[in-house]
Amino acid sequence: MEANLEQAVKKLISDFECPTDALKNAMEDFDELRKKGLEKDDEMLAMAPAYISSVPTGEEKGDFLALDLGGTNLRVCWVRLLGEGKYDMKQSKSTLPREIVRNESAQPLVDFICDHIELFITENFPEKIGVSEEEYLPMGFTFSYPMSQRSIVDTTLIRWTKGFNIPEAIGLDFGSTLTQGMKDRKLPVVIEAVINDTVGTLVTRAYTSNAYNTIMGVIFGTGSNGAYVENAAEIPKLTNAGNKEKMLINIEWGASNFKSLPATRYDLLLDHDTPNPGRQMFEKRVSGMYLGELFRRALFHLIKVYNFNNGIIPPSVTDSWSLETSVLSRIVINRSAENVKEVLRPYGIRFRDDNEALLIYDAAYCIGRRSARISAVPIASLYLSTGHAGKKADIGVDGSLVEHYPNFVNMLRDALKDLLGEDEKNITIGIAKDGSGIGAALCALQAVKEK
Ligand code: ADP
Repeated sequence: MEANLEQAVKKLISDFECPTDALKNAMEDFDELRKKGLEKDDEMLAMAPAYISSVPTGEEKGDFLALDLGGTNLRVCWVRLLGEGKYDMKQSKSTLPREIVRNESAQPLVDFICDHIELFITENFPEKIGVSEEEYLPMGFTFSYPMSQRSIVDTTLIRWTKGFNIPEAIGLDFGSTLTQGMKDRKLPVVIEAVINDTVGTLVTRAYTSNAYNTIMGVIFGTGSNGAYVENAAEIPKLTNAGNKEKMLINIEWGASNFKSLPATRYDLLLDHDTPNPGRQMFEKRVSGMYLGELFRRALFHLIKVYNFNNGIIPPSVTDSWSLETSVLSRIVINRSAENVKEVLRPYGIRFRDDNEALLIYDAAYCIGRRSARISAVPIASLYLSTGHAGKKADIGVDGSLVEHYPNFVNMLRDALKDLLGEDEKNITIGIAKDGSGIGAALCALQAVKEK
């Protein structure tokens, strides 16, 4: 029996392996998709101009509200930019209820957001209640779903991702819908900028790091995505750049589908169980929303076929989405049978011996490692194709996966070494803490300045 389990885990590891050659082919695929998306709309990669044309210097100052609608949480923040890359911040955070983010109507989500803004203002800015429009609080809104933009506030939602499904909102400007909701409640807030969290991460890293060469912002959270600085002249579809030379681009790379990286049976089964089958195939192999679920599916298979856990399949393993990626993090923190047993005991999983527990560690490990290796593809591709080869470049990252998954950045760097060789040493990677909040404030400041 055990030999079978050992073989099954070996097979799993080889299915999740991403050989360097396959990753290099994926880099070429990515570059092709990137160029297509810059050419025109409705391509696989949205390549959405963010209407932010410069990267902060660190000297920006001002007070702003920031709203961050992530895949998992809603955050309402107040940000004071102090210059010298410093800031003060106050925030409230709440988990988005599933029935609100999967709903025919957008109204429950708008109500939920307005409730939280109202509470935040009542607690922190009671003097603003009832003021005239000129005195409204300026707000940056981090709205991290594929959208096209015609200006810094004028957006159209292309589709939902990260498990959201609110059909009514697709094709509309969610910022305007929210503005109407706030107006109905007389909330003293005006949205000055709508940005993606990747853009927020890029500008926050540039503001706080003093690195002067931040070229990319990358999110490893519920979803996976990146933004970078592009020359306006390289964006054929951008017809209203004015005299701007640079433009931040929200790639929406979670939608990439690389022919050279075959899907495992677990990828296919997981995809089938999502509201957007066939879409976001990169994200479904890489991001925090999906890694725990891939592991659950692997466990299900191993228990069922190899009779491990005495053939008993507990609900934590039969029920879709019941194992979070944080469980994977806790398993891979240390390759010890004791640790694996302890983490999985509350989920009704028992091991006959230490070897069995270590095999499950190896199964978990290869799922996270694949995520980090695939994540290196767009990063390496962008570094080379946007003229940074041989030069120093800085990358801001944010999200629970990169912050909390053990060794994620090291595994990512190993893959970058495979793809870029010596150039990997030219790349610095740093967490852009509070990227969505600080980034929203920085972009709102740029919007107000350019009015
Ligand atoms: P969002 O993307 O919604 O802004 P986060 O960056 O916090 O929010 O990402 C949330 C995602 O991160 C969830 O999918 C969750 O499963 C995953 N996550 C949370 N904690 C951990 C952890 N300790 N290790 C790995 N992933 C985690």
